[in-house]
Amino acid sequence: MSDNPAVAEAEQIVNEATGDGAGSEGPKFTLELNQDQQDIRDWVHGFAEGVVRPAAEEWDEREETPWPVIQEAAKIGLYGFEALGQFWADDTGLTLPIANEELFWGDAGIGMAIMGTSLAVAAIFGQGTGEQMGEWIPQCFGDADDPKVAAFCSSEPDAGSDVAAIRTTAKYDEANDEWVLNGQKAWATNGGIADVHVVIATVDRELKSRGHAAFVIPPGTKGCEQGAKVKKHGLRASHTADVHLDDCRVPGSCLLGGKEKLDERLARVREGKRSKSQAAMQTFEASRPTVGAQALGIARAAYEYSLEYAKERRQFGKAIIENQSIAFALADMKMEIDAARLLVWRAAWMGRSGQKFENAEGSMSKLKAGEVAVWSTERAIQILGGNGYTREFPVERMHRDAKIYTIFEGTSEIQRLVISRAISGVHVK
Ligand SMILES: Cc1cc2nc3c(=O)[nH]c(=O)nc-3n(C[C@H](O)[C@H](O)[C@H](O)COP(=O)(O)OP(=O)(O)OC[C@H]3O[C@@H](n4cnc5c(N)ncnc54)[C@H](O)[C@@H]3O)c2cc1C
Repeated sequence: MSDNPAVAEAEQIVNEATGDGAGSEGPKFTLELNQDQQDIRDWVHGFAEGVVRPAAEEWDEREETPWPVIQEAAKIGLYGFEALGQFWADDTGLTLPIANEELFWGDAGIGMAIMGTSLAVAAIFGQGTGEQMGEWIPQCFGDADDPKVAAFCSSEPDAGSDVAAIRTTAKYDEANDEWVLNGQKAWATNGGIADVHVVIATVDRELKSRGHAAFVIPPGTKGCEQGAKVKKHGLRASHTADVHLDDCRVPGSCLLGGKEKLDERLARVREGKRSKSQAAMQTFEASRPTVGAQALGIARAAYEYSLEYAKERRQFGKAIIENQSIAFALADMKMEIDAARLLVWRAAWMGRSGQKFENAEGSMSKLKAGEVAVWSTERAIQILGGNGYTREFPVERMHRDAKIYTIFEGTSEIQRLVISRAISGVHVK
């Protein structure tokens, strides 16, 4: 245990979360939420309703990171490693998606500004040693007086869906026990404004994605600079930018998992043996149900808004919901959202209880929730008519925000590829 209280606390949370709290039989799956899950849901919902939603339009228009809102979240303990540890500690796996759904119900742009850090944290959590988790995870968040964000940088201009095409290199300088990184990362959420960047780089290009490794770039490291900031269709309160790595030197200890483990893995791959460790893919697989839950939050927000609108809005002497075409659309929206939630919860439970995703259930959950979010928000615009198309009403923002959920963390096409390969055993192309 570290002498630093913050690091010691992080280590404890990590140990508790990774311990066998589930017991040998594993947690039982139930749709009846326990008191802790209900309390967290209501707590996050309260913040989403009282703080996030009222700020949504302003930060979408400003296209800037909503630091005051992040700070508010940090003050109540919703932004920080303790909160993430608390969500993760639920051995049913449901608290993490529940919290994400509620927050993104408030607003997805601000939700991503708050939750974007967790992708870098997931990489450190999934691939780092206990010591690395204790050192870097708290630094990803800072504290309530001075909150920080973190970035996970995998994508590159020529390596989006094709993760194996990553060109950013990491070369080991043995004399100084340092890694030297060079390359350009694209589309990084919090890229350049983050304190901690986690970068996926290749240590052996011939091995494609099996030659990848993940590195922590500590705050203020020379040679790690923000490139162009991206102007986006939606999720505009969340910062997205290129990151340039020019002879960026980090200590040997910044390689997640450590050099011994990397060398062993590379040796196994070079001998032609299987290796399950692919740095970027591991992070994505673990985070897919959570990302699906974010999409669900947007879909539910649009559904609820359009349901109320349809009851109020009168045309031809009656409320528009009295028309089957409107009422049936709302019925379908509710059904699709609930169906997507069941897939998200199943995948979250499977992931947390260590079940193998035999049929790519993680991908299924993200694919379904992302597509339901795009479809439901489009329906919501239709139900609001002209008002739905204007910035005076929130459903157009929700529709813009929803669209990214069929693109990032694996496009819908890539999810279908993963699922079809998993169910068939055929290397579908
Ligand atoms: C707002 C935002 C935030 C992001 N945040 C991050 C981040 O934090 N970190 C990070 O590393 N990346 C991030 N990304 C990048 C994101 O993950 C990529 O955009 C995504 O993986 C798709 O890659 P691409 O844009 O290069 O599209 P491409 O890979 O060029 O795909 C273009 C089209 O071709 C299709 N396609 C490609 N290959 C196939 C195939 N084999 N079969 C069928 N269809 C195919 C795709 O589905 C898509 O429709 C972010 C992107 C955005 C827009």
